[in-house]
Amino acid sequence: MLSPTSLLLQLLLTAAAATSASAFPDLPPPPFVNPWLSFQNLSGCHMGDERPGLADLKDYLSHFGYLPSPPPFSNFSDSFDEELDAAIRTYQRNFGLNVTGTLDPSTVDQMITPRCGVADVINGTSTMNSSFTRGRNLFAYFAGNPTWPPLKRDLKYALTATSNTAIDKATLSAVFARAFARWSAATTLTFAETESASDADVTIGFYYGAHGDGEPFDGVLGTLAHAFSPTDGRFHLDAAEAWVAEGDVTRASSDTAVDLESVAVHEIGHLLGMGHSAVAEAVMYPTIKTRTRKVDLARDDVEGIQQLYGSNPNFKGVAPSTTGSSPEMETSDGGGGGAGGGGRWGWRWLVVVAAVGLVRGESLLPGTSFF
Ligand SMILES: [Zn+2]
Ligand SMILES: [Zn+2]
Repeated sequence: MLSPTSLLLQLLLTAAAATSASAFPDLPPPPFVNPWLSFQNLSGCHMGDERPGLADLKDYLSHFGYLPSPPPFSNFSDSFDEELDAAIRTYQRNFGLNVTGTLDPSTVDQMITPRCGVADVINGTSTMNSSFTRGRNLFAYFAGNPTWPPLKRDLKYALTATSNTAIDKATLSAVFARAFARWSAATTLTFAETESASDADVTIGFYYGAHGDGEPFDGVLGTLAHAFSPTDGRFHLDAAEAWVAEGDVTRASSDTAVDLESVAVHEIGHLLGMGHSAVAEAVMYPTIKTRTRKVDLARDDVEGIQQLYGSNPNFKGVAPSTTGSSPEMETSDGGGGGAGGGGRWGWRWLVVVAAVGLVRGESLLPGTSFF
């Protein structure tokens, strides 16, 4: 039975709700708007189908490199054609799904999961996976393997656009310091925050929608962030996300909560030259679920970054739960990995499969070869 106090409270809340509803009849719906949720309507589609919404799915696949852009001044059609079938098969291979070419529920679920804005495929070359490397080193680099030069191993970063986030500066500084430390622990690189943007190698900011680099953000969920390959140094976060910077993100009240540090660790990988990995445990895997924390580099991430920059002699190895690969890749001491570790799987397996700039065709990386 309700106490008088709670009854009064309930009445007040009801009245308040009624008032706000009538005072603002044109308010938009609640802000849970995953831009890709409508793909659920396409579940079960396969080659030969004609279904409204397939054009949007093609836009999505084109954005992440699985389909070429449509010709200028034209749009994709709603026809499930051979190109779409092939694109979906590549996508399914990259994400470890059954390769059916059909939009089965698990494929649609994966496609609507929030993800990084950097493409997985460039000019038709998948950057994430290769049949002969499955289960081994599946990390990838950007096309041309850009890195920070040998004389530039002590990098400075600045938080340059923070007015669009309510998270205070001290908290942001702590989150990004921890995220950078994950990479410096494994390599010879060091990172330090600077207040001066002009002095910084890397700039980090929160932006809404279009923000001048041709890669507009899309509101809550969808694309979460993106970063450019070396030595560009730009790292942008979608200000519309429900970023969680402190506390346990797995217990966050919001259905759309995204762990800031987890996304930061991933994007810093791009800033250093890492592309997307097909290893689901790797921090360089393109998607992350809401209310999930994923900040420990997996074996795959470590081998990738150490082949670019060498190993930190003090590196203690990856956490046991994040080896992210087959048991045979374990070494007695994680520090033994590194460039040396490359000797075993190394350059032969190096999936140069070229990854992707943030931008697709017009690329940051002019003239790069893909092998
Ligand atoms: Zn990414
Ligand atoms: Zn951007």
